[in-house]
Amino acid sequence: MSSGLNFHTDSLMHRIALSSLVAAIVIGCAQSSRQVASTPEQVRAPLVDHHQHFFSTPLATLVNVQPIDADRLIAMLDSAGIRRALVLALGYSWGNPRRTVENEYEKVKAENDWVAAQVARYPDRLRAFCSFNPLKDYALDEFARCGTIPQLRGGLKLHIGNAAMNYHDAQHRERLRAVFRAANERRIPIVIHMRASISQGMPYGREEARIFFDSILPVAPDIPVQIAHLAGSGGYDAVTDSALSVFVDAIGRQDPRTRQLWFDVTTVGRNATPAEAQLIATRIRQLGVQRVLYGSDAATGGNLPPRESWAEFLKLPLTPADFQTIATNVAPYMR
Ligand SMILES: [Zn+2]
Repeated sequence: MSSGLNFHTDSLMHRIALSSLVAAIVIGCAQSSRQVASTPEQVRAPLVDHHQHFFSTPLATLVNVQPIDADRLIAMLDSAGIRRALVLALGYSWGNPRRTVENEYEKVKAENDWVAAQVARYPDRLRAFCSFNPLKDYALDEFARCGTIPQLRGGLKLHIGNAAMNYHDAQHRERLRAVFRAANERRIPIVIHMRASISQGMPYGREEARIFFDSILPVAPDIPVQIAHLAGSGGYDAVTDSALSVFVDAIGRQDPRTRQLWFDVTTVGRNATPAEAQLIATRIRQLGVQRVLYGSDAATGGNLPPRESWAEFLKLPLTPADFQTIATNVAPYMR
């Protein structure tokens, strides 16, 4: 049977299971819960925004958004009362296989270097992670180069969707594994956007998250790994829930491979229905609020600036104590 068929079957079954679960939660909610949304007055702002980006002028032109530099991000953080942020460089955007970019590797390096120079202007407030498409021939070279730059050697951001990686492709897996292995050797933490490409129709769900958990993550047992967007790409749909279930189950059985996993909730509450919001809250509690990190994402496209993004997150049906825990969680690489 093709993996594509497996995926669709799995996804359909999961959707059915998800809708009955959501229905059960909604009924339970209507009967017993009088939870009201928390407000910024009840819960102090996060200590750290763990998921931010800059757009250099050349990159902003390439992807048709407004540039975001350190001054602009700092102003947005100030308005949210958030002191510090982790800026995930967007070097990989230059290595997106759907684009043909002249002197691609030079542009990847320039993007990473520009981000380094920007965060260097606010050393007590901003840190940056290096980034590149892990499937490219220059991936390990760029990783080594970032290791020589003080502002970039603290961590690595990988974006599986942007790279158009297919978890079922053995060569892709080997390339990603090589990067994880190199990161582990150098004790460099990773933030990973795990969701496979939606526009390229790459398979994604429980099966692919299990491939990641069983054959990629084990080569990096000694470093923290931050799973972005609760294993999705913003919002919270059945596919995301299906992928996240691999981690929920593993944490439930105290699998040692989960010891250094962190989960960022970046933009997961976007346009959530009450039932979806309830499900997100349930999953956050199952993962454990102590390993959940707040992140806003870059204020481009449909994404909100940090102040509004935090207010949106506070609408989830978690308790003020849960929110306070998440707001005060700081990943080891931001301490
Ligand atoms: Zn992002």
